[in-house]
Amino acid sequence: MELLRGAIRTYAWGSRTAIAEFTGRTVPAAHPEAELWLGAHPGDPAFLRGPGKETSLLDVLADDPAGQLGAAALDRFGATLPFLVKVLAADEPLSLQAHPSAGQAVEGFQREERLGVALNSPVRNYRDTSHKPELLVALQPFEALAGFRPVARTVELLRALAVSDLDPFIGLLDGQADADGLRALFTTWITAPQPDLDVLVPTVIEGAIHYVGSGATEFGDEMRTLLELGERYPGDAGVLAALLLNRIRLNPGEAIYVPAGNLHSYLNGVGLEVMANSDNVLRGGLTPKHVDVPELLRVLDFAPTEESALRAPTRRDGFATVYQTPAEEFAVAALHLDGDDLGHQVDAPCPYDGPQILVATEGSTTVYAKSSTVTLDRGAAAWVAADDGPIRLSARQPATVFRVTVGL
Ligand SMILES: [Zn+2]
Repeated sequence: MELLRGAIRTYAWGSRTAIAEFTGRTVPAAHPEAELWLGAHPGDPAFLRGPGKETSLLDVLADDPAGQLGAAALDRFGATLPFLVKVLAADEPLSLQAHPSAGQAVEGFQREERLGVALNSPVRNYRDTSHKPELLVALQPFEALAGFRPVARTVELLRALAVSDLDPFIGLLDGQADADGLRALFTTWITAPQPDLDVLVPTVIEGAIHYVGSGATEFGDEMRTLLELGERYPGDAGVLAALLLNRIRLNPGEAIYVPAGNLHSYLNGVGLEVMANSDNVLRGGLTPKHVDVPELLRVLDFAPTEESALRAPTRRDGFATVYQTPAEEFAVAALHLDGDDLGHQVDAPCPYDGPQILVATEGSTTVYAKSSTVTLDRGAAAWVAADDGPIRLSARQPATVFRVTVGL
C-alpha cells in the first residue's frame, strides 16, 4: 500500500480553490483545476509515493499485474486497471456530452484508426475501445443536467417560456410524446443552421428572462440554468438542448449513474467521479472543444427518464454506504467511521478480490494493509494492491474514506 499522488487537469471550467483546498495546497491555485485523476489511464496516470522516489501506477501494474490486480481482475480485464477515479471540481458547466456503449466504442475506435485520425488529435472521438459508464457522487452540493426529461413535463416547461417561435417545436413533441419525438426535436435543434440559432436562442432567453422576472418559480432552476448557459454560449444549440434534460441537484453523498448514451452536462459543484478506464466523449455543444453532432446522434439514448431513475440507489453494509450500479468495471462505497467504530481497528474486507483505491473525504483515517500502514487525511489517496489486502481502518474522530474496487 502506498500513498497516491493524482494528476491534476487544468481545464477552464475548473476551480482555483476546490481541488487545491481538498489536497492541502496553496489556495487559490495558479490555474483553474478541473480534475484530479487517480488511476492508471495512459493519458495521465497517478504516481505511488514510495520511499525515496515516485513510480507511475502504470509501471507498477506492468511489473506485477497478477499481484497488483489479482488473478480474477487480470482474467476479466487484462493487465490494466479497469476503472478510473477523479475528483471533479466544476465552477462552470462542462460540455454537453454522452459516452458510447462497449460495441460503439470498439467500432468507433477501429473506424478512426482506419481513417488515420491521430490518437492525440483534437478531433479524435474514440481514444480507446472501452465504454465509459460513470458514477458521480457529490462531495459538495452538485448540479447536473442528465437524461431526457419525460416529455409531458418538457412541454409544460416550453409552454412556460411563452415564446411563439417555440410552437412548431412543441408540436413535434405533442405529436409523439416519446423517444421518437425527442429524437426529432433534439436533431432539429442540434443541426439547425447558425443564422436560425442566432434568432431562436436569444428569443428563448428573452422568454426565460420574462419568466424569472414574473416571479414564477415552478421552473425557476431550469430557467436560471438556461440564462447561465445562454450567457456563456450565445447562439449554441446546446442551450436549447439543455431544456430537454432533467436538472438534478445532489446533496453531498448522493449520486447519479450515467449509462451509455445518456446526454449530460455537469453544471457546478465538487464530486467524486468513477468510471470505466476510458476517455471516450462525444460532445454536442457548450464547449470550445471538438463537437461531433452526427456521431453524438448515433450513440444517444432518447428514451425519456425520470430523474429518480438516474440516481444511484445505496444500501447500508455495516459502516459502508454501497452505491449500487450495474457497472462491471467498478464498485464504489463510502466507509464511514463513527460512534462505536472510533478508537479501534475495524475490518474493511473488500467485496472483490482485487485492487483498491482509497480517497479520504472527511477526517483522518489510518489504514492497515499487509505490507504497511498509512494515515489518510482529507484529500489523500492510497493504492492497495490485490495481494496487500484485506485492510483494517481506525479513526479517533468521525471520518469517511471512499473505496473504489472492481465490480462484481
Ligand atoms: Zn460524462
